[in-house]
Amino acid sequence: MKVYCLLGDERVFRSLSPLMHNTVMKEVGWDGLYVPFAVAPSRVGDAMKGIRALGIHGANVTIPFKELVVPYLDEISEVASTLGAVNTLVRRGEILRGENTDVGGFMEAVERTGVSLEGKSVLVVGAGGAARAVILGVRMLGARRVVVANRTLARGAEVASRFQADLIPLDRLPEEAPCAQILINTTAVSQPEEGVELASLIKGLRMPDCCLVFDLNYGRKENLWGQLAERQGIPFVDGLPMLAYQAARSFRLWTGTNVDGDRFLAILRSAA
Ligand code: NAP
Repeated sequence: MKVYCLLGDERVFRSLSPLMHNTVMKEVGWDGLYVPFAVAPSRVGDAMKGIRALGIHGANVTIPFKELVVPYLDEISEVASTLGAVNTLVRRGEILRGENTDVGGFMEAVERTGVSLEGKSVLVVGAGGAARAVILGVRMLGARRVVVANRTLARGAEVASRFQADLIPLDRLPEEAPCAQILINTTAVSQPEEGVELASLIKGLRMPDCCLVFDLNYGRKENLWGQLAERQGIPFVDGLPMLAYQAARSFRLWTGTNVDGDRFLAILRSAA
């Protein structure tokens, strides 16, 4: 039996990753088990030692540890190194390697919409860890211009300079939105009670040239980004496909088995 785990804070117990991975392992006959662990941020080093000592074969890493685990790794992939963030740990013998499958998962979710980002102007709302993966993905998909809008300007400035993007404060969204051809929400806000000010800004946006609205969040009863897209006849995708496609990539790294990301997506949708 091979054991895999998810490292994060107490939110790991609401994660759908154990369901996805345990279901797929069973389906393909892989003798494995995937379990969530909530870890205090001050104990991240102990948790990484534990992964080695317990012989855990692989892991996902989520908020708030994606950056914090990096010093404890033996190797890191190029994408994870560019981002400074790891969401997948892979053990090869005594070597623990960090990967980032969020970027590939995001890119596949965009590609499967059939909308090309080549030469497009992309507006990314938010500048946290997920925004970094999105901006790298957007660049790899050939976007011409990337504009980052963030509530905290200092955080936005760090991301914008790292990825050669332009930066605007959130309250400039109404002026910037009409120029965007792709809109991506990477903030934690998708329904009104999650952020009153951003919610009221979203309601007023006009996006005449936009051909895709992508929200990284999912499972919201009332999704303001989805409503914005619907009002203006723009295709909309939520965060479930990205979650599924990054999981398929982690699964392949751990097991060498290629399972279509849409199988992971179907499991997520049946649980939603
Ligand atoms: P993070 O590092 O904590 O960043 C959060 C971002 O949301 C920051 O830009 C923050 O702005 C902004 N924000 C939070 N509350 C806000 C509010 N009330 N008004 C305006 N902006 C607000 O989190 P993350 O890791 O980037 O994740 C962001 C979201 O993406 C989360 O909801 C997460 O669940 C989701 N996600 C989905 C996937 C997927 O596979 N679908 C993958 C990764 C993340 P400030 O800088 O001003 O605080």
